[in-house]
Amino acid sequence: MKKTKKNKDRIIRIIDVTNRDGVQTSRICLSKLQKTMINLYLNEMGVYQSEFGFPVTHHETNYINANMELVKKGVLKPIVLSGWIRAIATDVEEAIKRTRVEHLNISISTSEQMMRGKFMGKKSSDDIINMMVEALRLARKKGIKTIGVNAEDGSRSDLDYLVKFAKAAKDNGADRIRYCDTLGYDDPFSIYNRIYYIASKVDIPVELHCHNDLGLVAANSIAGAKAAIDAGVDAYINTTVNGFGERAGNADLVSVILAIRYASGFKGKYRLDSNIDLSKAWKIAKYASYAFNVPIPINQPGVGANAFAHESGIHADGALKDRRNYELYDYEELGRGEPEIIDTGRQITAGEYSGIKGFRNVYDKLEVKFKDDKEAAEILELVRYANVHNQKPLVEDELKFVASHPDEARKIFTMKP
Ligand SMILES: [Zn+2]
Repeated sequence: MKKTKKNKDRIIRIIDVTNRDGVQTSRICLSKLQKTMINLYLNEMGVYQSEFGFPVTHHETNYINANMELVKKGVLKPIVLSGWIRAIATDVEEAIKRTRVEHLNISISTSEQMMRGKFMGKKSSDDIINMMVEALRLARKKGIKTIGVNAEDGSRSDLDYLVKFAKAAKDNGADRIRYCDTLGYDDPFSIYNRIYYIASKVDIPVELHCHNDLGLVAANSIAGAKAAIDAGVDAYINTTVNGFGERAGNADLVSVILAIRYASGFKGKYRLDSNIDLSKAWKIAKYASYAFNVPIPINQPGVGANAFAHESGIHADGALKDRRNYELYDYEELGRGEPEIIDTGRQITAGEYSGIKGFRNVYDKLEVKFKDDKEAAEILELVRYANVHNQKPLVEDELKFVASHPDEARKIFTMKP
């Protein structure tokens, strides 16, 4: 394979899939407003792409279109919002008919197991490629700007078949191939070898989509990214905030960023997208924990309560003398260290039954001004709906969002069954 660029010019970018894999996870979910907030926080954090939803799922239509309006207004910029659909022509048609989505990942299973156990032997390996190519060509024809092609269960797929699949995707206009370790079956050594093989043979940027069933998810993600870069192509790692995702989860956003920045074999050798701003890590992790209603584990890398805590004599003494004795990176870099102020006296909160006075009080504290009473009344009505929609007190950023973008907020709260 001819390398057009030196490896040092290759970049690892982040594609966060919290709003797709995270929300499809058993027992946990986000409201459409919470999904929108995740997109806004990911954008602030400099994440390259958010896989923001399912354009063919009817209750997502207004959310997706409202977020596309936020893209148009320049609010969600420069982040790329990409929808997830199956790699079949009817899904492409439906996605384009229902929504104004501009970027897609199209997904189909490529393993023997899935062909046998999911398609029940009704689809041959050639049929799979033909279906994918038909969907891909249609998406291209309809003007979709970037298309990633997902090989579901890629880690249990025949390697030469994957090469054939990826070649067909590339030849028909795919921008990237997504290697899905759907079952978390790979280890860092197997994924390195497999990705290196595919990327060397096909010369197409690779997305790593890994799961944590064997506890190897961050290691596998960066090992796969290293293989792609070593083979001369760009790498994209799929992450989720706090690692939420199917079963044991996906690669945690903050862990992956920290690993690329600080792991001994990566630091200074592999380039992370320079737009990434880790100082937003604390904020997004806390928000996702609140929105999903799932606490951050005490030992979570970077954002766990114990990530910078020292108690034992030798460690505490060492950390006080020089933080580098027992800390690999600084808490300030993750946006930690500010005291959190909790009001212990009277509090006026805005809720689904709030009146104008209390509501004004809440917004005054946020220093949000309204041009007249009419505008204030309109926003109050929307905030009531936002509370019905979220079923928990709104955070400051949500209150500010509703006041700043009432038209999009209204659309986000609206679902027509
Ligand atoms: Zn997944």
